[in-house]
Amino acid sequence: MRHIAIIGSGPAGYYTAEAAQKHWGDDVRIDIFDALPVPYGLIRTGVAPDHQSIKGVSRRYEKTALTENVRFVGNVTIGEDVSVADLQGLYDAVVLATGAPNDRQLGMEGEDLANVFGSAAFVGWYNGHPQFADLAPDLSGRHAVVIGMGNVALDVARILAKTEAEFAGSDIVGHALKALNESNIHTITILGRRGPHQIMMTPKELGELMHLERASPRVDPEDLPEEEEDALLEPGLRKSVAHLRSFAAIPESVHADTPVEIEFDMFASPVALEGDGKVQKVRVERTVVEAGRAKGTGEFYDIPADLVVSCIGYRTSPIPGVPFDERAGRFANDEGRILPGLYCVGWARRGPSGTIGTNRPDGFGLIEKIAEDDASGALGRKGKAGREGFDALAKERGIEVVTFRDWKKIEEAEEAAAREGAPREKFVDIESMIRARD
Ligand code: NAP
Repeated sequence: MRHIAIIGSGPAGYYTAEAAQKHWGDDVRIDIFDALPVPYGLIRTGVAPDHQSIKGVSRRYEKTALTENVRFVGNVTIGEDVSVADLQGLYDAVVLATGAPNDRQLGMEGEDLANVFGSAAFVGWYNGHPQFADLAPDLSGRHAVVIGMGNVALDVARILAKTEAEFAGSDIVGHALKALNESNIHTITILGRRGPHQIMMTPKELGELMHLERASPRVDPEDLPEEEEDALLEPGLRKSVAHLRSFAAIPESVHADTPVEIEFDMFASPVALEGDGKVQKVRVERTVVEAGRAKGTGEFYDIPADLVVSCIGYRTSPIPGVPFDERAGRFANDEGRILPGLYCVGWARRGPSGTIGTNRPDGFGLIEKIAEDDASGALGRKGKAGREGFDALAKERGIEVVTFRDWKKIEEAEEAAAREGAPREKFVDIESMIRARD
């Protein structure tokens, strides 16, 4: 019997568990740990609440979760309740699937002004992550600036632009729905330091901006390169750029009819955030793109900003004793191997890129490496204590574990509390989650 501990119950964690099951069959026991009492990581707290079809992938993870040899061990924080070394003593392989939950910093003056947030915090707020449920962004101003040209920036801009009716069928949490409903924001600037050919936004997500009830996207035709140059782009990016071209062609009469505008400001690199205690403007430098890189032109201007959300990527949380690549913001690893018996997968391995589905080959690839280490003897002899050993340790330390069965009770209570037409109303604090299982 092999015992595997996976830290993190998001997509990377569950795909790795599925792969381990496929490889070892009945000859493996897998414990999936999570600091929260609820599973699915980014699916619950990262994927936008109005993207329910993407969230549907959790049904696949539930199938894995309900098998005999897989167990969910919720409400256990690695590095606090138990250490990685504790787990290495109990399990043959410890896999860090902890994602990248921390915001990359802009590293500029004014970043700590009020109403400036990173996307992990802002997205966590509207998705009900207990760490960010109390964020209380002030949406009473007219102008929001969203920094970055990736899909997270698009999520944030779209959520800020939607009406209450457009959230029907979503699982946006009540506190965010109420705040957005009372929002006064009329202009949402998406700020990109490079140009249309360097956006990270994908076509389907960009296309959604064309169908918003009260908002329209605006692109300055001057920012678009010659159309013939699009032919050199890979097909996905070419489609995204085609969306930008169609945004640039929207007539003024349409903009006049939509009270909210999502305006793309490209070739504009933020250099400082300014305001008197609270953010009031973003100072930017005009750029040109040379050899793929943004280069400042020395021309500066200000964009009014009552709210700033910086969507410029994420970093993994370091764990004491685990080698960390500071520059890349993830664990130092060689194809998922960190140290003998210690591995990483998903964003914790490769950084914050790719779709949910990218984690599947990642999880299966990692299990191949662990299987190689098993075959070569690098995992050591069998006979570790595995889950029985962990249960004894949890009892000794008074750790209050939340099981998958408990989660199903929490889920039932969330479904029962849902607004009409919504799939659930999430608990946004850990105490309520734990109470709901009792
Ligand atoms: P991303 O795709 O890497 O985009 C980050 C953006 O931030 C880039 O445009 C980047 O510009 C910009 N940026 C970085 N540092 C900056 C700085 N100092 N100043 C100004 N701009 C800066 O990251 P993401 O949007 O966080 O998304 C993470 C991953 O999740 C991606 O793979 C994404 O596709 C995925 N995701 C998917 C969906 C979906 O499929 N619906 C939804 C959300 C997220 P440069 O390119 O110039 O560096």
